[in-house]
Amino acid sequence: MRFRCVFKTSLANIKTTRSRCFRRSYSQLQPQSDRPSFGIAFDIDGVILRGRTPIGGSPRALRRLYRDDGTLKIPFLFLTNGGGVPESKRASELSELLGIQISPRQVVQGHSPFKEVVNWYENELIVAVGKGEPAAVMSEYGFKQVLSMDEYASYFKDIDPLSHYKTRGIKQTYDENSSKELVPRYDVYSDRVKAAFVVSDPSDWGRDIQVLCDILRYGGLPGRDKGHQPPIYFASDDLEYQAAFPTERLGMGAFRIALEGIFNSVSGSPLKYTSFGKPNPFVFKNAEVILTQLVSDIYHSQDNMDGGTGHEFSTLYMIGDNPKVDINGAMKAGRPWFSILTRTGVFKGQDNDTQFPADLVIDTVEEAVDHILKKEHA
Ligand SMILES: [Mg+2]
Repeated sequence: MRFRCVFKTSLANIKTTRSRCFRRSYSQLQPQSDRPSFGIAFDIDGVILRGRTPIGGSPRALRRLYRDDGTLKIPFLFLTNGGGVPESKRASELSELLGIQISPRQVVQGHSPFKEVVNWYENELIVAVGKGEPAAVMSEYGFKQVLSMDEYASYFKDIDPLSHYKTRGIKQTYDENSSKELVPRYDVYSDRVKAAFVVSDPSDWGRDIQVLCDILRYGGLPGRDKGHQPPIYFASDDLEYQAAFPTERLGMGAFRIALEGIFNSVSGSPLKYTSFGKPNPFVFKNAEVILTQLVSDIYHSQDNMDGGTGHEFSTLYMIGDNPKVDINGAMKAGRPWFSILTRTGVFKGQDNDTQFPADLVIDTVEEAVDHILKKEHA
């Protein structure tokens, strides 16, 4: 199962929640006639950054979207399948790396939609998997009983028979050599894990596949009798992505395939899962809502009265480097989305991608922004 429609009412909730806390850094009143009829969504990895290094003239390109006084002129956001840290922290990191002021509301990460299911698991034990601070991400979304995979696994002696061969520095919740009885924050030995969330790319595939198989096969209680599979959610389904290494790296989609193949073999039943992130059209619909609210924020108009629904874009640009994810997603979302494929990341061809052709192929993000601003007379 690729994606379940679990968000039928979520867009309204998003509008309501975000419109409440929306007027902060863009509150300068602007004439209604100047309001742009377009917005931009930028992928990050392979478009804006490679690793932590800005690429393709991205700082210069983004600065053109602000006024001289530093306030936002053109509504834009980052639409990335990456993550692992709260949106507020990611916004600070991006602001520092790119030399511009970015609001947390302009950062939509692969795991951002997880906040829409918080009501289902708010007081249930859940496990958050992945690099960075997966438990902090889920706690910030409102989940109250969340353990990172690192912490959860550390409570089960010998659950990873290879742990002694691993030399890298995983934070241990307890001293493995100590005879002291463990005191977990939650009763992990009798409380079932109600759901697993793969928040970001797992950093220890072997252990995480092992422990997830334990959770999923044994009804949320590793080492016990077989039970009903708890739900598992993935923040994205990227097979590969462009990082600092010259060729693509395996992404969360690859991890999902590995887990699914192994789980299906050992359990005898197909893994049930839900994947978010691009190219899911929901992500683009959500981005459109946020961009609309940004316009309301910039122009501080009557749109705020109705959550920003009064503004309609004629064009929304998606600038990405990955045809399968960015371009495919914009295609699925349909109008007003217009896709621009750069050559600074996963895609390196001379012509267009054959499977998911973009509306425009261009070398860098700076050229893409230049093209948009000229076309829009902005
Ligand atoms: Mg990318």
